[in-house]
Amino acid sequence: MASVAAWLPFARARRSVSKDRRKGDDEKLLINVSGRKFETWRNTLEKYPDTLLGSSERDFFYDEDSREYFFDRDPDIFRHILNYYRTGKLHYPKHECLTSYDEELAFFGILPDVIGDCCYEDYRDRKRENAERLLDD
Ligand SMILES: [Zn+2]
Repeated sequence: MASVAAWLPFARARRSVSKDRRKGDDEKLLINVSGRKFETWRNTLEKYPDTLLGSSERDFFYDEDSREYFFDRDPDIFRHILNYYRTGKLHYPKHECLTSYDEELAFFGILPDVIGDCCYEDYRDRKRENAERLLDD
């Protein structure tokens, strides 16, 4: 019972904080990407205000009825995009086609420069292979 008694005042304190929510407080956002739901904090997205999700541009994708942001984009690649906001590192999934990965980055306004050191070489090599393939045609 001791743990419950300790927990209750904490829960009460949390409730009073959300009741008089001031501007600038964090909130959870629901993002629907082709039917797959992602949740994150608004502050997480606003870490990068020069991107689509981090700026007010995302409001164009807000659905008042379902109270979520809807993107008709690739949910598999979106996972990596959202993780970039969380960790500050963008990873390149090697099994994904480079062109479709680039397209998703461009759509969300993220430059490939921010790809982490762990994945940058793979990304750059794939980019070069692609360029060579195009020259061969
Ligand atoms: Zn990586």
